[in-house]
Amino acid sequence: MLVRLMYASRAKSSITTSLTDTILEQSKRNNSPIGVTGILCFSDDVFLQVLEGGRQAVTSLYSKIATDPRHHSLQLLSFKEIDERRFVNWRMGQVNLAKINTATLLKYSEQASVNPFSMSGDQCEALLNELITSAAISGR
Ligand code: FAD
Repeated sequence: MLVRLMYASRAKSSITTSLTDTILEQSKRNNSPIGVTGILCFSDDVFLQVLEGGRQAVTSLYSKIATDPRHHSLQLLSFKEIDERRFVNWRMGQVNLAKINTATLLKYSEQASVNPFSMSGDQCEALLNELITSAAISGR
């Protein structure tokens, strides 16, 4: 049984490369053995993450991530059973949303900066699908 979970959160302090490097390193090290794939998007002080994998693995991982003091105000945007993975190529891909072109962001959000807290789960998912097709996701 595969599921896809998407949530948004706010970083405790502004997001630096060193912070995202550490989180991505932990994610890549830990997610492979439990069969979880996904991507981590970030901009200013906001994280938007997708986790895909077995229901138990994804649920347990989300519970662990939710207690991480490096972020707060987690909002679950979507949790659904899926037939196939969309982010199968990424143990934890990354997208710096500040580098995405304005038109792509404006297509789905009120402002040319991403605020997943004011977007629907469907809009966030559509934005992420566009990031895949435009090859905006780095890391594996
Ligand atoms: P760590 O403190 O990283 O390490 C624990 C043990 O592993 C220690 O014994 C240490 O010695 C050993 N170790 C450390 N580094 C290495 C290394 N390079 N090689 C071998 N052993 C090592 N975590 C995830 O797992 N997956 C995610 O997708 C994820 N997403 C996150 C998203 C956000 C927005 C945030 C804020 C955090 C996320 N995290 C994620 C981090 C998560 O909250 C935990 O901090 C993390 O999972 C803890 O990892 P750990 O148990 O390996 O502990």
